Amino acid sequence: MDDCLFCRIVRGEIPAATIYQDEHVIAFDDITPQAPVHTLVIPRAHYVDLNDDIPADQIAALFLAVKRVAEIKGVAQSGYRVIINTGVDANQTVPHLHVHIVGGKSLAHGMVIFSGK
Ligand code: 5GP
Ligand code: ZN
Repeated sequence: MDDCLFCRIVRGEIPAATIYQDEHVIAFDDITPQAPVHTLVIPRAHYVDLNDDIPADQIAALFLAVKRVAEIKGVAQSGYRVIINTGVDANQTVPHLHVHIVGGKSLAHGMVIFSGK
C-alpha cells in the first residue's frame, strides 16, 4: 500500500515516536493525543480494518503488544481503554487497522458517544 499513512510509518518514511516493535507490529504515540497516554498499535502488514481477513497469529500479536505497551507506558495497573474504530459509523480515519490505547487519567464512564450525524 504505497500511499497508506501507516504503511509509510512502518517503512520509516514518516517519523513516529515508536514505543515498541516486533516482527508483527509497531506501536507509536498518537500525533494528536486525547489522553496523557495515547498510543497506537498497528500490524506491519496492511489490513484495512477488523473486517479484513486477518490471520489469528496477527491478531494475537496485536493484543500481546497492547499488553506490552500498557506496561511500558506505565498504565497496566492504573488502567486503560482499548479502542478499534472500524468503518464509517466508528469514524475510522486511517484505513490501516490500529488499536488505540488510552489512559493515564480517569476516563469518562461509558464509551459510546454519538456524533449527531
Ligand atoms: P482513527 O480515527 O482512524 O481510529 O484513528 C487514527 C489516529 O491516527 C488518530 O487518533 C490520529 O490522531 C492518528 N494519526 C493520524 N495521522 C498520524 C500520524 O501521521 N502520526 C501519528 N503518530 N498518528 C497519526
Ligand atoms: Zn497500510
